[in-house]
Amino acid sequence: MPIAVALDGPAGAGKSSIAKKAAKALDYIYIDTGALYRTIGLAAARRNVEPIPSNEVEKLLSEIKVDLTFNEQGEQIVLLDNEDVSGLIRTPEASMMASKISAIPAVRAYLLDLQRSMAKSQNVIMDGRDIGTVVLPDAQVKIFLTASPEVRAERRYKELVEKGMNVNYDDILNDVIERDYNDTHRETAPLKPADGCIIVNTTDIDFEQSVKKIISVIKENV
Ligand code: C5P
Repeated sequence: MPIAVALDGPAGAGKSSIAKKAAKALDYIYIDTGALYRTIGLAAARRNVEPIPSNEVEKLLSEIKVDLTFNEQGEQIVLLDNEDVSGLIRTPEASMMASKISAIPAVRAYLLDLQRSMAKSQNVIMDGRDIGTVVLPDAQVKIFLTASPEVRAERRYKELVEKGMNVNYDDILNDVIERDYNDTHRETAPLKPADGCIIVNTTDIDFEQSVKKIISVIKENV
């Protein structure tokens, strides 16, 4: 049976960059499920569909096709109606839209099979909010990766500035706090540590130390 590592935690905890490097070192496939929610968020934004009330989003789901594939470097590509939108979903607006539409049960149900199917035939590190609690409750390893809101905002700020985006630290901190609130307070699949998960806090450790820690947790548990 393939090995599944469920990696959950709040926005900006470093899940994706840490998991990508750990997956490479272990020769696992890295799957970023946030990209799927962002893709539906982008589809909604493009058609001016408001997340509340949710019936328009439900209609939208019946009209779009979201898919996940990998390029030659093994990097994940998300497709919206066969268009590669992997770059377009990385804006603060897309983050906020993703956070809002992800509270809609129909959206979560729509993405469930796609996520589960990815873990059926290969070893994966799957990163998200509800991977250990809902998507892969039988994952061999469950990790909850977290850090203080200020440290997470600081990291996100640096990342976006490096990409040449004109952003403000306080806006990002407010976004982090708002998304934490949305993610932990929604009724369907709220963000919370899964039973039996290992909590890794990266507030006081750097990127390389975090990668080492994740790799050692995985090795100790499979
Ligand atoms: O991980 P990322 O920040 O890209 O996720 C974008 C948004 O998608 C999150 O704020 C969260 O609301 C939602 N999400 C989710 N469940 C997942 C992954 C992401 O609700 N498994």
